[in-house]
Amino acid sequence: MGSQEQIKAEIVRIGKFMYEKGFIAASDGNISARLDDNKIVITRSGVCKGRMSADDLLVVNLDGAVIEGEGQPSTEYRMHSLIYSERKDVNAVVHAHPPLLTAFTLAGIEFESAWLPEVWLSIGSVVTAPYALPTTNEVPESIRPYVKKHNAILLERHGIVTYSLSLESAYNMLEKLEHAAIVAVYTQILSGNLPRPLTPIQLEQLNSLLRPKK
Ligand SMILES: [Zn+2]
Repeated sequence: MGSQEQIKAEIVRIGKFMYEKGFIAASDGNISARLDDNKIVITRSGVCKGRMSADDLLVVNLDGAVIEGEGQPSTEYRMHSLIYSERKDVNAVVHAHPPLLTAFTLAGIEFESAWLPEVWLSIGSVVTAPYALPTTNEVPESIRPYVKKHNAILLERHGIVTYSLSLESAYNMLEKLEHAAIVAVYTQILSGNLPRPLTPIQLEQLNSLLRPKK
């Protein structure tokens, strides 16, 4: 993932993207990256992610204790900690409130990554975790059953969390999923219906592309 300085610069860059794309408002959202088994860099609480500097990033351990930097870690650090504990392969976690994906959870309509083949191929299936009281342990508990099997989880009445090998790829998942939600809503405007998901046979064909070639 690079040096601590490079990681901080990358988090600042991704915060700008999230804000400029309208995936967060005011001081919403949070971003983190793994330094080692028990240490992460995470955005501090209360800062606008579109206007951060490296000083707005803290080094904390997975219990949320600040090791380096001024201020309090993001109020949702527990969600980040849970993902890093459950998924040793994950190096970066991105949480945002993208309007359309969040609206799907409010409308009680299941978002289907199987609407678009490229979304299915790059992200796999996406689930919605039930409503949880923000900033409390309810948030990590609500996603716990899904963390191992999914790389993106919608949070009912809240937003989404995506996680991956790198910050760039976790951010790309967020952008790709909000884009897919826009496509789905346009489909509904044009046809009166949400898209039909790909068929099980089509999904199996896509899955076979992901298997290592013999
Ligand atoms: Zn949030």
